[in-house]
Amino acid sequence: MAVLTDFHCHTRVSPDSTASLYDMAMAAYAAGVRYLCVTDHCDTVDWRTMDFYPPCRTVARRDREELAAVRDRLPADMHLRLGLELAELRFHPELTDELAGDPGLDFVLGSHHITAQLGDYHELRYADPAFCRRVWELYLDNLQWTAEKNYFDVMAHIGYVRRYAMAQGVDTALTLAEHGEQVEHLLRTLIQNGRGIEINCSGLRDGCGPFPSEEILRLYRSLGGEIVTAGSDAHRPADAGKCLAQGYDVLRACGFRYITVFTGRKPEFLPL
Ligand SMILES: [Zn+2]
Ligand SMILES: [Zn+2]
Repeated sequence: MAVLTDFHCHTRVSPDSTASLYDMAMAAYAAGVRYLCVTDHCDTVDWRTMDFYPPCRTVARRDREELAAVRDRLPADMHLRLGLELAELRFHPELTDELAGDPGLDFVLGSHHITAQLGDYHELRYADPAFCRRVWELYLDNLQWTAEKNYFDVMAHIGYVRRYAMAQGVDTALTLAEHGEQVEHLLRTLIQNGRGIEINCSGLRDGCGPFPSEEILRLYRSLGGEIVTAGSDAHRPADAGKCLAQGYDVLRACGFRYITVFTGRKPEFLPL
């Protein structure tokens, strides 16, 4: 059986988690995970005000301290990695080198949650289909901006906005039928720049399907995309390691043969 890897999880260094790294790592280990990369939120702006968010400057340091304190208390075959979920550099591109250039990082997720025009996706109302189309266009424009910068390793949760619409009873998704041209351009840019994508399994927990969807995973594979990490996006020990095995099944069905792990920003491919 393929070894389980989780390259997207959060601890109390993120503002939206209270979990200690030790508790998250032990829960992940119990769920079968043997490669765990902590990727706490490193947001350059406050989602409520869109002002600069100074704690972003200390996320990597705080996580490094947590890792140093727990590493010896974990099972020897639990491989811990230090990452960041680095979001919204578009607001503060001058911070790119400072935040993404930390030499101690194993892995950086390129992430996007907030648009300058509309604010945070979780604050929007999705009832109007025309508005949804605008949201997806803005979303893809921001992902494209990110893909053209080379500060990250893997693009986080493509299409995750669906979760907020579904919570309001609206079924809108990033589909190739509506946005195929933009999505293909995005995937081609990632591949050309040597970046990857993740299969974010949080949507498998709550009925939204994986992020990105299977059709986008298949397109990425058919375009030659090989770098793909798996992530639970767990924010609490109860979700640690959840649905990763299901995510692996989705990847195999889409034609992938390897799952990627990163050490010191270098990819390594483990058989799926
Ligand atoms: Zn995220
Ligand atoms: Zn996350």
